[in-house]
Amino acid sequence: MYYVGSKPVAAWAVTTSGGIILIDALYEYSVEDEIVNGLKKLGLDPTKIKYVVVTHGHADHYAGAPYLQSRLGARILMSAADWEFMQSQRNPNRPTRDMVVTDGQRLTLGDATLTLYLTPGHTPGTISLLVPVKDGGREHLAAMWAERRLISPERRKTSEPTAIPRSASPTSWEKPLWTLSSQTIRIIAE
Ligand SMILES: [Zn+2]
Repeated sequence: MYYVGSKPVAAWAVTTSGGIILIDALYEYSVEDEIVNGLKKLGLDPTKIKYVVVTHGHADHYAGAPYLQSRLGARILMSAADWEFMQSQRNPNRPTRDMVVTDGQRLTLGDATLTLYLTPGHTPGTISLLVPVKDGGREHLAAMWAERRLISPERRKTSEPTAIPRSASPTSWEKPLWTLSSQTIRIIAE
């Protein structure tokens, strides 16, 4: 798993025996520099991107997706709620509606299977993921958590992510809009 994002916005590449799964697409003006050229710098082939999971419908995560969809033929995955949410913004830099992610859906490419969960809060259909990774031959399960509680109370008003300030008291956080299912906890525990 490789970081191909910029300083303020994350994008990750999961390499599998069947190609690359990209998690998030950055902006229309940074997708080529950061993702395509970033993969080349890492010795990876950007034409091997098969799937792009857009974790939520904000432009910093989806606006680079049309480039990957039209030039590289990648399939784009979003939740139904965020396909709609993105559509409502009328941003011309949005991908053509493609695959719809459902809660608990598995996405298999080559030797890797990711599990995708709907964790609304930051947007109506934000996606969190479980990603199998290897480190020095050891297998681990990485969890990418995207949920409202990771946003500070001040910034939450604008729905933009930021670090939680030291002064923020956990008791002041809003109740999460969803809770982990027992199945998720079991998977994480494994
Ligand atoms: Zn966002």
